[in-house]
Amino acid sequence: MRCKKCGRAAVINMRQYKLALCETHYVGWIQAQTERYIHEYQMFSRDERVLVAVSGGKDSLALWEVLLDLQYQVDGLYIDLGIGGDAGYSDQSLGKIRQFLAGRPTAARLHVIDLEEEYGATITEAARLTRRGKAKPCSVCGLIKRHVMNRVARQGGYDVLATGHNLDDEAAVLFGNTMQWQIGYLARQAPVLPASAEGLARKVKPFCRFHERETAAYALVRGIDYLYEECPYAVGASSIRYKIVLSEMERNSPGTKLQFYLGFLRARKAGAFEGAAETRPEMRPCRMCGQPTTAGDQCAFCRLWETVDARRSSQ
Ligand code: SF4
Ligand SMILES: [Zn+2]
Ligand SMILES: [Zn+2]
Repeated sequence: MRCKKCGRAAVINMRQYKLALCETHYVGWIQAQTERYIHEYQMFSRDERVLVAVSGGKDSLALWEVLLDLQYQVDGLYIDLGIGGDAGYSDQSLGKIRQFLAGRPTAARLHVIDLEEEYGATITEAARLTRRGKAKPCSVCGLIKRHVMNRVARQGGYDVLATGHNLDDEAAVLFGNTMQWQIGYLARQAPVLPASAEGLARKVKPFCRFHERETAAYALVRGIDYLYEECPYAVGASSIRYKIVLSEMERNSPGTKLQFYLGFLRARKAGAFEGAAETRPEMRPCRMCGQPTTAGDQCAFCRLWETVDARRSSQ
């Protein structure tokens, strides 16, 4: 397979675009497409400060690198969830991020929030004590990550929070929400979520139109050493089953995932879910942490840690 632009050996063939590219042209293509999506969805400008949530996986590290190469003002945030104990999943993730930074001459800053150190419990323990996640701590984890990302963005004066979600992630979430007709969730799934209240950062997904194999190929070409393993709690997640189904459809009909996602975005833009978005209750600041919440005068995050503390002291 030859590069469509220069005729050298191609490193990737993107069947949905009928486009094969060599190493150099592929890196240029990823950068140009990322820039295009940032503009098209009005994600952020070069005057704004971006905080990218990094996990040690390929997508978030690749995103950080592309944004740095494109000269955006972008720092990283890693939330140490304490999964797997010493030298376990969380420690290995942080190791990959530090290694990534050490190998790149950049002034970018990495914020590390250690959950156990700052709040007194790992994600596994918090889920066990609150009994919100008996088998898996994922719902507790999602709640905590959202809160901490927003807190660091607000305290650090960042305008935007970026995550490395790719097309496979977005299509799988969309598939799940459509299967269950979760209209409220569908209304809030987008490449850009504007700050819905004072004190909340805008959320963006600049990689939302890249397939997982495309971000993996980019990481490989650029020598980004990332953590291949998924979080141990991801095993058996319904999103993984949806990804398998969608990838099978993509294999038979290249472009399926992109069509599914872009068709949804068009419908969303045309107002298909507008009513659902308006039914959200009004946001007010939490009396404990000040972050806007729809859950009355105390946000779900503060309530969670109150329960963790109470259960721990009664044990
Ligand atoms: S799979 Fe792991 S990182 Fe993802 S939400 Fe669940 S506990 Fe958190
Ligand atoms: Zn080429
Ligand atoms: Zn709170």
